[in-house]
Amino acid sequence: MAVDSILSSPLGPPACEKDAKALQFIEEMTRNADSVQENVLAQILARNADTEYLKSFNLDGATDRHTFKSKIPMVTYEDLHPLIQRIADGDRSQILSSHPVSEFLTSSGTSAGERKLMPTIKEELDRRQLLYSLLMPVMNLYVSGLDKGKGLYFLFIKSETKTPSGLVARPVLTSYYKSDHFKTRPHDPYNVYTSPNEAILCPDSFQSMYTQMLCGLYDRHQVLRVGAVFASGLLRAIRFLQLNWKQLADDIRAGSLNPKVTDPSIRHCMTRILRPDPELADFIVSECSEDNWERIITRIWPNTKYLDVIVTGAMAQYIPTLDYYSGGLPKACTMYASSECYFGLNLNPMCNPSEVSYTIMPNMAYFEFLPHDNNKNKNCSAAAARLVDLADVEVGREYELVITTYAGLSRYRVGDILRVTGFHNEAPQFQFVRRKNVLLSIDSDKTDEAELQAAVERASRLLNTTSVVEYTSYADTATIPGHYVVYWELLGRAPEAGVLERCCLEMEEAMNSVYRQCRVADGSIGPLEIRVVRNGTFEELMDYAISRGASINQYKVPRCVSFTPIMELLDSRVVSTHFSLSLPHWGPHRRR
Ligand code: AMP
Repeated sequence: MAVDSILSSPLGPPACEKDAKALQFIEEMTRNADSVQENVLAQILARNADTEYLKSFNLDGATDRHTFKSKIPMVTYEDLHPLIQRIADGDRSQILSSHPVSEFLTSSGTSAGERKLMPTIKEELDRRQLLYSLLMPVMNLYVSGLDKGKGLYFLFIKSETKTPSGLVARPVLTSYYKSDHFKTRPHDPYNVYTSPNEAILCPDSFQSMYTQMLCGLYDRHQVLRVGAVFASGLLRAIRFLQLNWKQLADDIRAGSLNPKVTDPSIRHCMTRILRPDPELADFIVSECSEDNWERIITRIWPNTKYLDVIVTGAMAQYIPTLDYYSGGLPKACTMYASSECYFGLNLNPMCNPSEVSYTIMPNMAYFEFLPHDNNKNKNCSAAAARLVDLADVEVGREYELVITTYAGLSRYRVGDILRVTGFHNEAPQFQFVRRKNVLLSIDSDKTDEAELQAAVERASRLLNTTSVVEYTSYADTATIPGHYVVYWELLGRAPEAGVLERCCLEMEEAMNSVYRQCRVADGSIGPLEIRVVRNGTFEELMDYAISRGASINQYKVPRCVSFTPIMELLDSRVVSTHFSLSLPHWGPHRRR
């Protein structure tokens, strides 16, 4: 029931007093976006004034925007890499941040084939927690009764490593799930999960997924929302159910736990949950043994009101499959975040995915925006002069996001392109357009054109009497897990049997570590496929582009395709297909 109108919010009537406070906070921040930003910048510059980085630009204690903008350059990860490497190697002096670096967050964005390392500080966890605490109050404005049931969320940790100096390096969500903020969170009726912490915190992805699915099945009538961080994660869970429903049903029938789940803390906590339930087991067998898995989510979890998964950006490719499995349930994209900083939230989370806009919360960091124009932004120092503030962006324009964080990144290019769709109070709202330079993505992997080119070059060295004359690629997500498809046109004698399969594996070996981790540790990417097309196919592709208005002088082979007529043309010219027959190498340890 909505609380007293005294607490009501312009966003809508809050569901409870706690929500009222959260909504009020959003109102305060967004109403005063510009002054909050000014204060955030002043705080960051004051606290980090004595760092080696800021001192090198002679800020001399200034904390105002004007001095900051005139003296501090805009940078990329590569510019900061030598400093970050020093921190990783054990230099404890105040290099980027005056607060001690507590750990490194490993981004899914890569640099030289390895995950980017983001130094972070302890208090950033509070900032992330604050953003999380705003999500349900907003959701409760649109969906009622979420305190009457549970959320089935498939959440996972990934492996962590240590830098040479002993600092932990791990993905931001692994850091969050392992923190006390998450592990010892107070009971909140609006945030009850079916998955026990023990399952979420198990590093073995099979054991973790098996247990989370089992708990979700036991609680099938209580589940009101089903989610994962990204759409690809939820589809992986559905695939897991397809592969493991028999064993799950056996366990439910007997009240037992699959012996492959050996983690002692899971086995211990599951003694509270396991019980023989033959009726439920029969139901699962009858639903899952059908060939048709359409609407399987609502068949098994009939009270699901929405899916909580990010389907913006690269994840939009999964919308049709999610709709198939869920019968078109609403897909809520609640937040926009990264390892560097959590940015903001969607104030209208039940909207259509194509209309999702994120409101950047001005208290999270200091945000600047580089008008996006491919030709003009090559020169960093000239481009920096064009940066605009959060409150000054224009509706309809596209910008690249640039952040200055409490943890010590100054005017750092995140690499995301955003379009302004409107404002909530003084705070702009952004549609996520794309990440710069990403050609192929299935899960959290991001492969750019240079990486694909290098992979093709490396693999084609295995061809003795043949060469690759042209190539293009495609992220095939029709099956789960999705996989990279690379179309090759060859010149010369046909390679011997098995050579093209080895080329597939060689390309995978050349991919960055996030790709290889998804492939090896997570199983979230399937074997890479080479489709050999007959001679002259790429010329036909050019003819097609020219017939649609491309200039013959400027035509370049697209290195990634997704337009249906082009895919159809390519697929109709395929003479043979080849898959990687084994897994590439991957280990949690980084190459320097
Ligand atoms: P990571 O550094 O691995 O945490 O990845 C962060 C990146 O994921 C962001 O910079 C975006 O490119 C992407 N991302 C995060 N949240 C969203 C979202 N809600 N929609 C689209 N892309 C997102």
